[in-house]
Amino acid sequence: MVAPIVRFAPSPTGLLHVGNIRAALFNWLFANRHGGTFILRLDDTDRVRSRPEFEAAIERDLAWLGLDWTRKEKQSDRLAHYDAARDALVAAGRLYPCYETPEELEFKRKRLLAQGRPPVYDRAALKLPDAERTRLEGEGRRPHWRFKLASEEVRWDDLVRGPQHIDEVSQSDPVLVRADGTYLYSFTSVVDDIAFAITHVIRGEDHVTNSGAQIQMFQALGAPVPAFAHLPLLVDATGGGLSKRTGSAAVADLRERGIEALAVCALLARLGTADPVEPVTSLDTLVAAVDFARVGRAAARFSEEELAQLNARILHILPYAKARARLPHDLGETFWLAVRGNLTTLADAEGWADVVRGPIEPKIEDAVFLADAATKLPPEPWDDTTWKAFTSTLDRKGRALFHPLRLALTARETGPEMARLLPLIGRAKAEARLRGLKA
Ligand code: GLU
Repeated sequence: MVAPIVRFAPSPTGLLHVGNIRAALFNWLFANRHGGTFILRLDDTDRVRSRPEFEAAIERDLAWLGLDWTRKEKQSDRLAHYDAARDALVAAGRLYPCYETPEELEFKRKRLLAQGRPPVYDRAALKLPDAERTRLEGEGRRPHWRFKLASEEVRWDDLVRGPQHIDEVSQSDPVLVRADGTYLYSFTSVVDDIAFAITHVIRGEDHVTNSGAQIQMFQALGAPVPAFAHLPLLVDATGGGLSKRTGSAAVADLRERGIEALAVCALLARLGTADPVEPVTSLDTLVAAVDFARVGRAAARFSEEELAQLNARILHILPYAKARARLPHDLGETFWLAVRGNLTTLADAEGWADVVRGPIEPKIEDAVFLADAATKLPPEPWDDTTWKAFTSTLDRKGRALFHPLRLALTARETGPEMARLLPLIGRAKAEARLRGLKA
């Protein structure tokens, strides 16, 4: 395969949620799998709703996820290119001015529906006499512009959905330029996909119908048509669309709750695919396996419980080198290996750092037994055989032996293996805690 060039094209009108991220992730994984280029394109032609703070948030979220881009483009910087493409379509007879008001269009629509016919725009503007056009312009009416669809079936072989066909006869000619001269996304997207030589358009299946008209725009502008991969949408536990939900599925929110970026990627790369959701310690594993042929066509169900579980499973196998920089207190590899199996989020390591460093208030269940045990602690140096050697000198077995010791030494009911914790706590603190002293 020639090196693909792909783009993730969010509109900076809100925060990224897991649905957008899935599109970003598949673009990034696909580019990396095939030695391609991943472009971040900000679709910010809507000047009212696009905001710099959302742009910054999108970049922060992508960077956090590890989805780095080699090129960044903003549609607001590219208006001259859209003007040129608009003029080319007008010259080719594929873009025509329309003067209907929204009320007139709504009236036509209702009339067609009342007649039991599909509410397809009737192209009345194409038959408008010049004199009438001059009169309307004289009244100050500004036209909006529609793309004249070729009345044929558009076909493509979708990398996820297989062979697709859309009968453009049943579609209204889409408006590409509003009366105020601003452009609609479906047009600017095609102009940019041509300019950046995009080879694969990878996005959510809510864009399938757009693709039919967009394929005709590529052709009308004399450009090769890219390949398309439309990913099924994500739904929540109730089957509802995630994009309609606010808050809980926003990427920034997951980050604040201590979810690992890797967990988000590992889940979204595999949800609704033939491959199992499994913990990974690097995006490389996901890159190597990405394959549109393995993405199912049904909506994929996203659950925060599944994400939280996967997050814990990733921490349980995460190598020290990957955790180190983010640990609030770096107590070394032995510490990390001792506690990682007990973490739900990385921040939980802090609690175990407190146990190891002290001071903590021990919980004393059986003071006489514990004070005796304190006298039996072997001399240092300690290693992970010390615990076994120590406990075998005590005249108890099972829970009666281990539970009071764990409570005194860690002040917690459960936790990492004591054999690994004890050498980290050290003799001085262990002895004090067994004697009931804060240490
Ligand atoms: N700005 C569009 C969106 O966020 C991009 C869709 C596309 O990838 O073409 O839906």
